[in-house]
Amino acid sequence: MIPTAARSDRITGARILVTGAAGFLGSHLCDALVREGHRVVGLDNLHTGRRRNVAHLLPNPAFELVTHDVREPYSGEFDVVYHLACPASPPSYQADPISTSLTCVLGSFNVLQLAERAGARFIFASTSEVYGDPLEHPQRESYRGNTNPIGPRSCYDEGKRMAESLAFDFSRSRGLDIKVVRIFNTYGPRMNPEDGRVVTNLIVQALNGSDLTIYGDGRQTRSFCYVDDLVRGFVALLDVDREFSGPMNLGNPQEFTMLELAELIRELTASSSTIVYRQLPVDD
Ligand code: NAD
Ligand code: UDP
Repeated sequence: MIPTAARSDRITGARILVTGAAGFLGSHLCDALVREGHRVVGLDNLHTGRRRNVAHLLPNPAFELVTHDVREPYSGEFDVVYHLACPASPPSYQADPISTSLTCVLGSFNVLQLAERAGARFIFASTSEVYGDPLEHPQRESYRGNTNPIGPRSCYDEGKRMAESLAFDFSRSRGLDIKVVRIFNTYGPRMNPEDGRVVTNLIVQALNGSDLTIYGDGRQTRSFCYVDDLVRGFVALLDVDREFSGPMNLGNPQEFTMLELAELIRELTASSSTIVYRQLPVDD
């Protein structure tokens, strides 16, 4: 059970920074925070994010979008910092892996320093990928993972592990109030249809009547959380006691195979697409 503040202690009207605000999850989080009455500054370098994801918020005086790369320092007065800036789909984070590592490590360092200067709570979007190719199912937060430090996914997996490590060192040695969330696969509106993740790939293929690409034998499993549920968890972290830092898993506990997903999408779209098998990417 996660300790939460009494309702009367709830943070309201807070000044909140969201990095990665123009991305899939960041834009939904900004929507929810503005709806709850907070003032939100969204920071994004528009690398994988899109301005149109937050275009509806721009006329609202409670929201501001700042174009900025977290690999460069940034300052401001904030009560809470949500740090989501990082490409998330394997094709996008592998396209420039050195840049991804720097976003994870240097970017997180800069945002942690910003939070420390501001005296803000730091809430970090880590990932289930810190468990790598897990040898334990399901993965509890105490599981230390099975990552490959030199593979094509390591810029992301090890980058996020290093960012978690930095966050916990800022907490231990400098007293920063941190919350580390390990997000499991999430889906919903505003995902970039071309970002290469399985949900978008299969839906686009089914709607176009083209082949549904399954990598490997399709028996690998994932769990998929709907974005509104994930965002509810993220917003709830505003009320969690300062002593609780996590890490905490956030996602749908029910796993299913990529073949089951393909069948479901084919059924729901009434598509006549056929399933084709492609090589499983390294360290998938
Ligand atoms: P996304 O690619 O849609 O959003 C990431 C945002 O970060 C984009 O708007 C991008 O432009 C921005 N960004 C990237 N590098 C940046 C930089 N150097 N400086 C400033 N902005 C930068 O991805 P998403 O799915 O919304 O993921 C958001 C966060 O959640 C990421 O940190 C990701 O690792 C984490 N996460 C997501 C999932 C998921 O299923 N979506 C799963 C696990 C973890
Ligand atoms: N995948 C697939 N077909 C696709 C895209 C992905 O079978 O068109 C597989 C991929 O190999 C992985 C799973 O689906 O096993 C989830 O991939 P995704 O990139 O969505 O997320 P992640 O690997 O980061 O969990």
